[in-house]
This record gives sequence, C-alpha cells and structure tokens, in this order.
Amino acid sequence: MKYVVVSGGVISGIGKGVIASSTGLLLKTLGLRVTSIKIDPYMNIDAGTMSPLEHGECFVLNDGGEVDLDLGNYERYLNITLTRNHNITTGKIYSHVIEKERNGDYLGKTVQVVPHITNAIQEWIERVSRIPVDDTGLEPEVCIIELGGTVGDIESAPFVEALRQFQFRVGTDNFALIHVSLVPVIHGEQKTKPTQAAIKDLRSLGLTPDMIACRCQEELQVATIEKIGMFCHVGPEQVIAVHDVNSTYHVPLLLKQQKMMKYLTKKLTIGQVPKEAAIKGEQLLSKWRQLTTSHDKSFETVTIALVGKYTHLHDSYLSVIKSLEHASMRCHRRLRIEWVESSNLEEEIRNTNLSEYHKAWHHVCQADGILVPGGFGSRGIEGMIAAAKYARENDIPYLGVCLGLQVAVIEFVRNVLGKEGSTSMEFDKTIEEKDASVVYMPDVDQVKLGGTMRLGIHATKFVADSHWSKLRKLYGDADAVYERHRHRYEVNPLLTEEIESHGLKFIGKDESEKRMEMIELKDHKFFTGTQYHPEYLSKVLDPSRPFLGLVAAASGILDDVLQEDLNYKGEF
Ligand code: GLN
Repeated sequence: MKYVVVSGGVISGIGKGVIASSTGLLLKTLGLRVTSIKIDPYMNIDAGTMSPLEHGECFVLNDGGEVDLDLGNYERYLNITLTRNHNITTGKIYSHVIEKERNGDYLGKTVQVVPHITNAIQEWIERVSRIPVDDTGLEPEVCIIELGGTVGDIESAPFVEALRQFQFRVGTDNFALIHVSLVPVIHGEQKTKPTQAAIKDLRSLGLTPDMIACRCQEELQVATIEKIGMFCHVGPEQVIAVHDVNSTYHVPLLLKQQKMMKYLTKKLTIGQVPKEAAIKGEQLLSKWRQLTTSHDKSFETVTIALVGKYTHLHDSYLSVIKSLEHASMRCHRRLRIEWVESSNLEEEIRNTNLSEYHKAWHHVCQADGILVPGGFGSRGIEGMIAAAKYARENDIPYLGVCLGLQVAVIEFVRNVLGKEGSTSMEFDKTIEEKDASVVYMPDVDQVKLGGTMRLGIHATKFVADSHWSKLRKLYGDADAVYERHRHRYEVNPLLTEEIESHGLKFIGKDESEKRMEMIELKDHKFFTGTQYHPEYLSKVLDPSRPFLGLVAAASGILDDVLQEDLNYKGEF
C-alpha cells in the first residue's frame, strides 16, 4: 500500500481537497486502485451536527455516515464508494481510545496522546485504507490521506505526529507528502515568504515535502518556482504550480502537464501495472479530457434558480452544484446558477426590503429551471413554497430535493386541495397530524440528534403504473433506484390518496410502500421531487438522473435526452 498525504500550510480553503482528489484521479489513470481518507481535526464525531453555513454541506455515504464534504469530491473524482470510517475526526479517535481504556485494554498504563492517540490514528489509517472501494472489489493500492486544517494548528498536532511516525512504520518508499501552499500576488509581485514559512513549520515537525503545490491566482513565474525550490530545499520538479483555472475539472490536467506522476511514481517506487488496468486507466484519462475540453466549447447557457436558505455559503450546496455541473456538461450547456435566498421571496421582505424582494423574484422568473434543495428549520420555507407554486403554475421545470419535495407537497395541499394552513410538523409543532402535509417519521429518534435521521442508501421502487414518468425514464425505466437519504420527516400517509386524486403522483415509494419517495406532475414540462438526495451519487461521467432531467428540461432538450441510452446501474 502506498500512502500520499496531502497537507496544507498558510491558510485553509485554498483547494487542498481538489488537489488531493485530482492527484488520486491521475494515479487512477495509471491503472492503480485508489482510495482516500479525510482527517478532520475537530472534536465532533461527525459532520452531521454542524451548521452548513459554517462548515459547508454535510455529505452522506451509502452506510449512512454523515461526513465532511471532501469525501464527496473523492467519490466523484475517483468513482469509489467510501464508508464512515474513511472520515477520521478527533472525536472518533478519542472516543475509540477512551472506550478501550474503559474496557481495561491499557490496564496499568497511563493513557497519553503519544503513543496511544497517535497509535490509534496509525492503526485506523492502515485498517481503513485496505477496504475495497471500487467495482473491482479488490484491496486498493494507493491511499490519499488529506489532513484538514493547516499544519501548525493545535488541533492537528496529534495527527501530524502520527503521520511523522507513520512514514517510518510503512517505509519511506511507500509514503509521499504533498504540501499545499499559497503564493499571494502583492502589487503585482508573487510572494514566496508564506510558503517558505509553511515548509519550515512542516520540517520542524519532522515531515519533509515531496511536492509543494502552490496555489496562486495567476501562473507561477519560473523565477518564483526556482526561488521556492531553493529556499524550501526541493528540486524545481517538486514545485507544482496550481493557478486559478475556469473549472476545477482542469486541475488534474494541470497537474499532469507538470509531470507530477513522474516524480510521484519514482518516489513511491510504483512499477508496471497489469496491461488491462493500464488500458482502463488510459481510457479514463481520455474520457476526462474529452469531457472537460468539449465543455469549454459549449456556449449556450442554462440558468437554474437555486432557492435555498444557506445561499451565503455556496459550499453548503456543494454536491448540488456539482450535480448541476455534471448534468450541464452532458447537455452541452454553460451553467448559470442564480442564488436566491428563499426568505427574500416572502411577503414580509416586500414590506421591509422591496428591492431584495424584486431582485429575488426577478431571478426566479428569469430562470429556465427552479431547484429547491434540502434544508432544516422553518426560516425561508414560505419563500420556497412560493417558488414551487410559481414553477407548478407556469410550467417551469422544477426539482425539489428532500425539503424541496416536502415544500412542493405543502404547496399542492394548500393551493390545490384547499387546505390553507397546512404545513410540516417540523415548522409548526402544534399542528394536528391530520392537517399536516409532512409529518415526523414514526421510526426516528426524537430526542438524540446525532446520527439518528433516516440515513444512507435505501431502495425506492417505482409504482406499477408509472411508465409515463419522466423521472422513471431518466432512470432507464428501472424498477427500483438506490439513492442516499437524510431526513426526519415524510409526506403524511393520511393525505396521499387525496393528493394523488388531484394529480400529483407518488411515482416512487420505499420498500414497505408506505413512505413516499418521488413526486411528479403528469401534465407539466418537468415537475418532480425526491425525498432522497440524488446529488450524493452524481458522477462527472454519469450525472444524477433527476438533475439531468431538470437541466435537460430547462435547456429544452429533455425529449432528446430521453431518447438516449439511459441505462441505470443502481447498486446496493
Ligand atoms: N428537514 C427535512 C426533514 O428532516 C428535510 C431534510 C433535508 O432536506 N435533508 O425531513
């Protein structure tokens, strides 16, 4: 097993995750089986209880793990399926060690950060890196380990020390370190001092960079590369320049151009791979290249209004954005997302901030399609309901994801069934169950909040008479689909018959056939919703089907897309 650690210096949030997943992709194009581990040095056990506005989206895995959004990048770039244990947090490591201490596993010993925590980290990495993650079902050959935060933080110190020991544990031939740094441009000059300081910090902790990936707003000058090489004590081929590019899908190609693999394979003594795997790798590279370069040549735009409540931090909707991008690439359209804060669509704002109200509605009305993504809590709900109503009444393509399905149902119950005050029990705790459009799921824990929702992959079966459904056709007329979930509430089973009799059909249900999973209007361009989150399984080369439907309908080419071979390979 070869390990490639990707750490960061200077500041966080400069694209370490993209560089790490692009490195993984390049290794994969060599025909290697690649897996990845993300280390988050915070105390939370998982990302499930963190605010999306602070930390970005909570990504959900097949096994129901609620994890850091970078795991989504790895799954998308590497086409792999990770488990909750591929996301290591300080909380997980400490609770594991404390549990062992209580069991008496360290009897007689003082339990300490070094060696007990650091050993637990190393054992965890070794164990998890061996889990098969791709369709070969075989043990991976390379593991990318991304260390969150920046080296030098108090929080990450035990992980840095564990990795220092780890390079000797696995042998230096099997260990490479890429340190991601920042080269700011001040008054037109590329400044190397922050990188020099970051590398000095790294070395003082016993880690040596094999490669320094320098993020910069512009292309790095040769003189800058030479200076970094000299002051950081590395050769120029070990300095990789990663300037801003118009799409993150170009980053793997940018790294490849600079012969990153040549250095890395030499350092890691990676030899010949079997011919068949090598051919598969080459095919992957050419597909990637073709898709990204052909996308540069699309000029027609498709505009999607994203009506949500965490729009101030776009990372809150990272997988949704990626799914829209994947679908747009497939439809040969340039994607434009209009970010609409849903509360700005509400009547209250009309009275207090008329210009915001008009701006928000202008974006909704100008859009080719409307998307209401997932969310929690009552703020902004009325705005989402208004957007769903607008889409339904004006034949505008609409996709509601999770909460987006729930608001579309509430809207329909209020305005078509005539039950004016109806809403979700999530937003009105006093509403009687018989009047609520959306109710608490009976089998979900109402007290403990960590990891207790309906989570992870579950089957959704299409109902018998749903062959007309566009969603079903998008899934290649499959009988069932397998997608990931994260919710506590569901459509009220007491109302489903009445809703259907007015035309909104529940075309997909869970295996018990009691839980509503998909909605669709028949006489509409594209009015759909899913209780699951299709965005978690969207891939660059295989866009999520509901998103493909929305973007294709918004581009006016849904009928053409439905003629294509939409073979769906869902798996459990
Ligand atoms: N808040 C809603 C629920 O818990 C929707 C969740 C979501 O959109 N992920 O059911």
